[in-house]
Amino acid sequence: MTHHHQTHTNTPGCECCRRRLLAGARLRRYRVARGLTQAQVADQLGVSDRLVSGWERGESLPGLWPAFHLAQAFNRQVVDLFLPIHDFVRQNLDDEPGDAAEHGSP
Ligand SMILES: [Zn+2]
Repeated sequence: MTHHHQTHTNTPGCECCRRRLLAGARLRRYRVARGLTQAQVADQLGVSDRLVSGWERGESLPGLWPAFHLAQAFNRQVVDLFLPIHDFVRQNLDDEPGDAAEHGSP
């Protein structure tokens, strides 16, 4: 498995792109459920509508701080936003040699 989550989008057959799309669809669902527009969410976070739209279309994932603000705006937990990619990321992290050693040091 190649790690290239940020360098490509919406590649057919790519699992990371599929998961990103699912996470984006979830963001959209949460936003609509709160009766918010993309522009309102963007204003609240101090980011562009284009960025919010990109998240919802699975082009990119929100970073940690935007994710906290999104979770707050949607009255959700941060982990809820990322559930569609959680297992996938874990699986890939476990595959990386040296990862265990890195986390093993105090
Ligand atoms: Zn991909």
